[in-house]
Amino acid sequence: YADTAMYQVKEKGRDSIEFFNEEMADKVSRQLVMEGDLHRALDEYQFKLHYQPKIDVMTGFVVGAEALLRWEHPTKGTISPIDFIPVLETSGMIIDVGQWVLEESCKTLERWNEMGLWREGTRLSINISPRQFRRNAFVDDVVQTLNKHKIPANSLDMEITEGIVIQRVDEAITTMTVLSEYGISFSLDDFGTGYSSISYLKRLPVSTLKIDKGFVRDIIDDRNDRVLVETIITMGRLLDMELVAEGVEQTDQLKILQQFGCHYYQGYLSSPAVSIENFEEILMADAKKRAQDV
Ligand code: C2E
Ligand code: MG
Ligand code: MG
Ligand code: MG
Repeated sequence: YADTAMYQVKEKGRDSIEFFNEEMADKVSRQLVMEGDLHRALDEYQFKLHYQPKIDVMTGFVVGAEALLRWEHPTKGTISPIDFIPVLETSGMIIDVGQWVLEESCKTLERWNEMGLWREGTRLSINISPRQFRRNAFVDDVVQTLNKHKIPANSLDMEITEGIVIQRVDEAITTMTVLSEYGISFSLDDFGTGYSSISYLKRLPVSTLKIDKGFVRDIIDDRNDRVLVETIITMGRLLDMELVAEGVEQTDQLKILQQFGCHYYQGYLSSPAVSIENFEEILMADAKKRAQDV
């Protein structure tokens, strides 16, 4: 093992020994550095939420928003959640950061309610990671945080992936059912990218399917993707679910989604995720447009 570093990796309670080459060792050490940086990030207020509008496919009106986490690293600039969420997951820090996201989202909703910007029945979606969701105290924490900020539970939507459900299905269903009874709704994120979503669909209290942006991207040129998207929309509608297409960037993609009967979309065509101040401008412009439309 001349250029092979050996690490002992402790994962999910059992010890396993794995052999890594140099490239992987490099990756591990970068992750350790990142882990250290992430520890400081919460205390030093380096996290921020950005908001992306959810748009009605037919009217163009704003019907909700998704909160997306941003990390403003003091020297490295803004780091994508794709790069640091997995590190938060494996280190367990996602529990604290996830709670921060919930708290911050509720503060934002409180502010928008006070400003008269948040229409009744509109929901803010937050992304929930498996480890956060599986904690025993999860439901209590959510209910407490909502109460603290006087936020009705029907202002909140939780985006989950099938990773949450895959191991302990019955437990997941119980947690989701309890939260649904309070009024929180659930969306299945990145739909179509997993293995077994379809078999769970009827059992889970999920009201919305989010079609992964990987299918939407080539919807114009790739017949297979177009057929898949149409099939997901048709199936979702038959199951009385709402459909959100992710990653819509072009008018022609939107036209196809309209034809297929998709309800809502998110994407750069309307707006990327933006700061709270910029999102408030989007909400004000939307209110004005709605008033003119009557
Ligand atoms: P996601 O929940 O599927 O979010 C959609 C991603 O697509 C976001 O990336 C969004 O900025 C991006 N997006 C939106 N419109 C377009 C478009 O038109 N084109 C393209 N190419 N991309 C678009 P982002 O913000 O980098 O987040 C990546 C992922 O990180 C999220 O995927 C989600 O899985 C995770 N994430 C973000 N915030 C949180 C959080 O607060 N908690 C947890 N647990 N995960 C989060
Ligand atoms: Mg999401
Ligand atoms: Mg997604
Ligand atoms: Mg995703």
